[in-house]
Amino acid sequence: MSCDQPVRGRLAPSPTGAQHLGNARTFLIAWLHVRCFNGELLLRVEDLDTPRTKSWANEQAIDDLRWLGIDWDKTAPLQSSRTDRYLEALEVLKQRELVYPCTCSRTEIEACSSAPHESFLDGIVYPGNCAERTAQAAQRLEAQGQRYAWRFRFSEGTKEWVDDLRGPQQLDAKVSLGDFIVARNYGPPAYQLAVTVDDHEQQINHVLRGDDLVYSTYRQLAIYQALGWESPGWLHVPLVVGPDGKRLAKRHGDSRLSYWREQGMRPEQLIGSIAESLRLTDTDAPLGARELLSIAQNKEHWWLDIPKSPWVFHQ
Ligand code: GLU
Ligand code: ZN
Repeated sequence: MSCDQPVRGRLAPSPTGAQHLGNARTFLIAWLHVRCFNGELLLRVEDLDTPRTKSWANEQAIDDLRWLGIDWDKTAPLQSSRTDRYLEALEVLKQRELVYPCTCSRTEIEACSSAPHESFLDGIVYPGNCAERTAQAAQRLEAQGQRYAWRFRFSEGTKEWVDDLRGPQQLDAKVSLGDFIVARNYGPPAYQLAVTVDDHEQQINHVLRGDDLVYSTYRQLAIYQALGWESPGWLHVPLVVGPDGKRLAKRHGDSRLSYWREQGMRPEQLIGSIAESLRLTDTDAPLGARELLSIAQNKEHWWLDIPKSPWVFHQ
């Protein structure tokens, strides 16, 4: 048997809207991976992105998971209830001069950057306008009534890590990604900080998530290092794209799981085609989550065989 080490993983839906096919595939892989190792799976709803968080989306994500036959062992508190913990971690980063207050608006940042948006790997690279400031400078800004975000100061040089599926990764993160936000200028901690504090405190030792977050791993690793915490292992699952090779979107048809449920689709139909995309079966015959788990349990290191290119989905 290939599945013999304890793993603590998590499912981390963001209730900013409906969960789609791509989320289903990633959740299913994360579930299979943890269950294969007889590990523990945590459900953590990441509701920190307050202006975009929808109250219905939290429950709907849970219904989607249940419909798919995905279960979990523990439920983590909502991120919105843990703000104090994230701010404590931010204090440590301030003391270590690893963050600085940034007063730049988006327009200012864009104006400083001559490069076209498409040339960036993962969003606009912060040009460093405020990087000379110390953490102390925040007091002066506050006295002046100025709003500021906290930005993490990347160290220079190439950063390296290993993705279980894609292999060794390396990048000069300061140059290619730029210093990043850990707390927003209207107060709340940002995703990069919250997810790192949570994964550490909830003892997650293997992060399995969508490919869209592969560059965030550089940011989160920098926070792990800054706080002196051991980092988890990583596996990023390729995205789902439409027949035109573009990220799945409305024009490809409705791929919300809630929509398919309402249409009376059986989860087995979906799991069958996901299984085929994972090379866990050679037909797209209907298959439930449990049956898929049995197939996975009998296949050595199946997760290393997940195709590295995006999954092209035909409705
Ligand atoms: N909540 C994030 C999302 O739904 C995932 C964050 C993570 O896995 O680190 O995209
Ligand atoms: Zn700035």
